[in-house]
Amino acid sequence: MAAQLSFESLKQSVNDGIIDTVLVCLVDMQGRLMGKRFQAQNFINHSWKETHCCNYLLATDIEMATPEGFASTSWESGYGDYVMRPDMDTLRLLPWLEGTAMVLCDLLDHHTHQDVPHSPRAILKKQIADLATHGWVANMATELEFFLFEGRYKKIAKTGFRKLTPISDYNEDYHILQTTKEECVMRPLRNHLTAAGVPVENSKGEAETGQEELNIRYSDALCCADNHTIAKHATKEIAWQQGYAASFIAKWHHDKVGSASHIHQSLWTTDGKAVFADESAKHGMSETMRHYVAGLIKYAPDYTYFLAPYVNSYKRFAKGTFAPTKIAWSVDNRTAGFRLCGDGEAVRIECRIGGSDLNPYLAQAAQMAAGIAGINEKLELAEQTRGNIYSDDSCPDIPTNLRDAISCLQSSTMLRSSFGDDVVDHYVRAGQWEQEDYDRVVTDYEVARGFERA
Ligand code: ADP
Repeated sequence: MAAQLSFESLKQSVNDGIIDTVLVCLVDMQGRLMGKRFQAQNFINHSWKETHCCNYLLATDIEMATPEGFASTSWESGYGDYVMRPDMDTLRLLPWLEGTAMVLCDLLDHHTHQDVPHSPRAILKKQIADLATHGWVANMATELEFFLFEGRYKKIAKTGFRKLTPISDYNEDYHILQTTKEECVMRPLRNHLTAAGVPVENSKGEAETGQEELNIRYSDALCCADNHTIAKHATKEIAWQQGYAASFIAKWHHDKVGSASHIHQSLWTTDGKAVFADESAKHGMSETMRHYVAGLIKYAPDYTYFLAPYVNSYKRFAKGTFAPTKIAWSVDNRTAGFRLCGDGEAVRIECRIGGSDLNPYLAQAAQMAAGIAGINEKLELAEQTRGNIYSDDSCPDIPTNLRDAISCLQSSTMLRSSFGDDVVDHYVRAGQWEQEDYDRVVTDYEVARGFERA
């Protein structure tokens, strides 16, 4: 990908006094931007080659706690440094922040300067390299769904998250009138992201009160994950600037529909031929596509953790909410975990399992690994499932809770051989910690239910 902002243009803009700050960022396990705000001149003079960060950034939970049990770092090893090496292809302006540019970094071992194997960008790059040995690239798009609430995060937190008022009062799926009232957030979001080199296709109202969707044009997998991460971050910042709170939690209320991040995927040759397309075959799917989709289906339990990484993520899988509950594929059917979309060159598979809380690097990498395994094993794709798949008991369930998903990840020989044992063990530990912390805490639900009547 050509940088949206070249190093030379950055130097010029700093000289001209247009840019004074460069955000130097990594992507953590939760898919968030972490890093430092550099004085732009210092970045240009020194830090554009590398800077450093504490290696606990890939071993914390969402609250920045430091759980034990990670082989890569610990209190015993003293939580040393990683090298952050800017990927200058990702240098760009952030037009919604005054005088600010940003760059994404790869994380390297401080001593060997090798990729940190469990860093999300490295995991995805490994799958991209595996696919390249076939002469292919993956084109991906990750839809972003989220909710907008009135008031900023701090004000909402002070209410104990009890006074959550969505930006709209009714289901705003495809509504133009309601979304006009939300343009104070969504219009700057679309325009600023476009100016930052993130190719926004559109935004739309989604199928719940206060729910939005942002669509970004598909691109190669790494660029897609970078775009997703920057867009998610921008959504939170721009909503905050406008006095609203954006939430990407997968399910904020049990009576409301959850938020997804559907992943559209297709394979292409390096010279731009659609590997998935075969107009003469059934549904226009090439044999390679059929193997890929069969791999996605066979290994869905193995990688569900990467599509649903929190206890809360599993509450989204509910019948009749457009979130899937079954592992099945179907042609243009939104009750299926895997929906066949498009025709001709545009034929692609959409995985509908992932929630808005997924890390796009990990989610895409795990699915590519499954698809590649399907191709290598020449897996046969069963007939599509038709009709209302929610009530089709012949289809296997998506793991229904985090505990089951972690156990499937832990015993996945496919992911162990593709990602490496160290990487799988690292994320198994991250998942176990999420479950342990949840199991420790007494929730409002339990107290209200049992306080008097138990
Ligand atoms: P829908 O609304 O039916 O889910 P869209 O037409 O809005 O589908 O497309 C959803 C996403 O799919 C968009 O982000 C688009 O860029 C992406 N997309 C389109 N063609 C491809 C393809 N060949 N491979 C991967 N993603 C694609």
